[in-house]
Order: sequence, then C-alpha cells, then structure tokens
Amino acid sequence: MIIKNLFKEYVSKKGKKCKALNGFNAEFPDKGIVFILGKSGCGKSTLLNLMGCLDNATSGEIIVGNQNITEFTEQEKSIYRANNIGFIFQNFNLFEQLNVYENIVFNIPNITQNTEKKIDELLEILDIVECKYKNINELSGGQQQRVSIVRALMKDCKILLADEPTGNLDELNGKLIFDKLKHFSRDRLVIVVTHDRENAYQYGDIVIEMKDGIVESYNLLSASVCIDKKINLDMKKK
Ligand code: ADP
Ligand code: MG
Repeated sequence: MIIKNLFKEYVSKKGKKCKALNGFNAEFPDKGIVFILGKSGCGKSTLLNLMGCLDNATSGEIIVGNQNITEFTEQEKSIYRANNIGFIFQNFNLFEQLNVYENIVFNIPNITQNTEKKIDELLEILDIVECKYKNINELSGGQQQRVSIVRALMKDCKILLADEPTGNLDELNGKLIFDKLKHFSRDRLVIVVTHDRENAYQYGDIVIEMKDGIVESYNLLSASVCIDKKINLDMKKK
C-alpha cells in the first residue's frame, strides 16, 4: 500500500474546517505488522478509515495493488471492503444478543463445511474453542476481542486494520491480542493504532509516529520488511 500526499478535511455543521490529514505519505509492505502512535486527534482513525474505504479523502492517493482506491465508486468501495479489509475496533462491535458462533457467521452468505472448518481453526489459534456457543456477555473483554478477530479473518483479508484494539483491555489481554495480530501478520498487512508505545516497539515491524496529520518519524524494526525510500523521502528516520 502506497499513500501519497493524503489530505482529509472535515467541515463541521457550523462551517468550521478541521484538517485531520495534512499530506500524509507512507509506503507499507504487503505483509507484516505496522503500529501507528500519536496523540489523540492527530488523525490516526481518519487514516485507518480512508485505508479501509470507510470515508472519502479530500485529496491524495492510496494505491493498493495497482489501483487508486480513493477513486473508487461507492460500489467498488464496498466490494473492496468485502474482499480485502478486516476491521477490529476498540469496543469489539459484537452483537450482544447473538452468541459467538452467530456473531462470526453474521455476514457470511452461505455457510459451507469449509466455513465451519475455518471457524474451528481460528477459534483454536485464538484459544477460545470453549467459547463457541457462549453468549457475548459471558465472555471477558479479551475473549470478545478475539471473537472479533475471528470474525474479521473469516474472509481472507489482505489488510487487517485495528483501531486501538487493546484500549479496553488489561495488560495481559492486550499482550495476547498483539501476539495474535503478529501471528496473522505473517500472511497479510496488519496496521494497528495504539497508545501502547512499549508493545508497539516490541511487536512492530514498523512503528510510525504521527503528528498533526502527517508522519513525524518512523522506525523500521524488522529486516524482513523493506519500504521504498523514494516514497519515504519526507519520512524522517529516527
Ligand atoms: P485520532 O484517531 O488520532 O484520535 P481522528 O482521526 O479521530 O484522530 O481525528 C483527527 C481530527 O479530525 C480531530 O481533530 C477530530 O476532532 C477531527 N474529526 C474526526 N472525525 C471528524 C468528523 N466526523 N467530523 C469533524 N471532525 C472530525
Ligand atoms: Mg482514534
């Protein structure tokens, strides 16, 4: 994924303008885990929403494969989201009225034997096999977040976007989630927004520090990821 000169300006109902992204540039590898740090309000969620085609940029490009996803029509966006993107949110976004299994299959049009096999495999990897038919309110926060990871990974998403996934969890459960996200970043790009600086540097292949809607600095922590220096000229290496 290559992001070139991305701007996002919000205009409030009273006409007040707010620049959430201010010419953001970055290049992400196809696989690996990238952490994004930065103060509240610096544009992290806005960036994730644009990467996931949940919102429209004011200007700039987001190139995925050989397509500029900022030029997609609404229909193309929804197909792109359905095929490529998994989302994980701070508050889990599960249906309290449904059990774990029902939450996982909620958006799957036809459930085959392969679907069932995949659910069981993912529950196993996330250590929540015993939760399969439990109600959501019987689960701990950490277990709920692991259910939301299963749900996100039921499609073979190439990009997994997690917005403060451990924000509502204690330290131990937070680490467990980062550990699992790291595991799944072997075959896909995982981008995690967090305030947990210590774990970002422990688990991240790349850590990006954002400020005022741009990259303030970045750190490459893993030799296995390489990003194109041309694109990153204005990313100041620490
Ligand atoms: P972060 O996730 O880093 O806390 P956000 O991306 O949510 O930051 O927000 C960046 C800036 O854009 C903030 O100043 C925020 O108030 C503003 N903003 C975010 N979403 C909206 C919106 N829907 N309408 C108006 N302003 C918004
Ligand atoms: Mg946010």
